[in-house]
Amino acid sequence: MKVPFIDLKASYNPLHEEIMKEMNGVFERCDFVLGGAVRDFEAAVREYCGVKYALGVANGTDALVIALRALNIGKGDEVITTPFTFFATAESIYEVGARPVFCDISPESYNLDPKGVEQFIEAYCDQNEKGIFNRATGGRVRAILPVHLYGLMADMQAFRHLQEKYGLDIIEDAAQAMGATVDIDGKEFAQAGSVGDVGCFSFYPSKNLGGSGDGGMIVTNREDIFEKAKALHVHGSRQRYYHSEFGYNSRLDTIQAAVLKLKLPLMPKWLEMRVANAQLYNKVLREKLTAAKIPVVMSAELPEDGARPEGAVVLPSEPRCLHHTYNSYEIRVPDRDNASKALNEQGVGTMIYYPLPLHLQDVFEYLKLGEGDLPVAERICGDILALPQYPEIGADAIEHVADCLAGYLKG
Ligand SMILES: *Cc1c(COP(=O)(O)O)cnc(C)c1O
Repeated sequence: MKVPFIDLKASYNPLHEEIMKEMNGVFERCDFVLGGAVRDFEAAVREYCGVKYALGVANGTDALVIALRALNIGKGDEVITTPFTFFATAESIYEVGARPVFCDISPESYNLDPKGVEQFIEAYCDQNEKGIFNRATGGRVRAILPVHLYGLMADMQAFRHLQEKYGLDIIEDAAQAMGATVDIDGKEFAQAGSVGDVGCFSFYPSKNLGGSGDGGMIVTNREDIFEKAKALHVHGSRQRYYHSEFGYNSRLDTIQAAVLKLKLPLMPKWLEMRVANAQLYNKVLREKLTAAKIPVVMSAELPEDGARPEGAVVLPSEPRCLHHTYNSYEIRVPDRDNASKALNEQGVGTMIYYPLPLHLQDVFEYLKLGEGDLPVAERICGDILALPQYPEIGADAIEHVADCLAGYLKG
């Protein structure tokens, strides 16, 4: 049995005709740029996320760049973020001229750890009436940029407290987590992207809501952010051919919007399937690994340093008040590279999200961080492994993947 890592055809094939109809509509109207489908899709996302404003942009990376610019974050500013994410998160901070500050992650959720952020501010920053300043660089710490990795929201309740305490902005990188929710400030099921000052989505085909190419969206409840972002995404113009600032050509394609608008109402069902898959993975992996005498621990049971017990496999826990969407399903395994190879040889697709933390990437050498500085992220990069996950994967495939892994680890 072959199990691909992801199978986009499984969700596209049943929709083929409807998608063609939507696309035809765009060709009939020829409203290719900023057409009706873009406005309709923005309205649908506003409703879905429970926010006042939504703005389609060309991709998730641009959503981050434009969100940072809309908050007037740039040269001389610093943004606290996670080293354990897709490169675009920190790239966007660099692109606007600001400096990323990497703080370590939680071994339970794999997301930026609010305790580490607070420790950084308390130990390394000075606070005065002008703001929070990094003593080592003189830069002004302006914002926190948590990532909702793998489809699980970061601890937004804790980040809200830090926001109030230190007067920082929050940009949510919700690229992997559209539809994820958090119970916060007495409100149940607040949507990813709607909790911070501004939220950023990607519609890259493998995300929770995947387009047929690139696409992205900014959501916010703040009119000032929306108005500025709206200008920035069309060359910094509020009135056509009059430019008050330098911006971007970064619009969500009408064709993409037409497809995404069709798919959005189906996403809740797909998310339910993703969650059911992850729950089944957790169950059958525990059974089969235990039967093979391989120790199993939940990520919530790990010590603070995230050390994986010798020979054990770590399964993902769902932290309190956070509702996972499992955009991908990851475990931590001994001998990761060989385990991954063994699965691939048996026709099971795998991925490593991510093999090298951002603070150790060549391009961030100038930050002068080295090995050992962010030990939890470094440790997890060494043994994390993503197993096949997509809504339609099915129970047989999941059992088969668990059998293959248990078989390999048993030796
Ligand atoms: C996919 C992704 C992005 C970038 O989105 P694109 O649409 O590919 O530009 C940013 N951050 C994270 C965490 C992502 O997974």
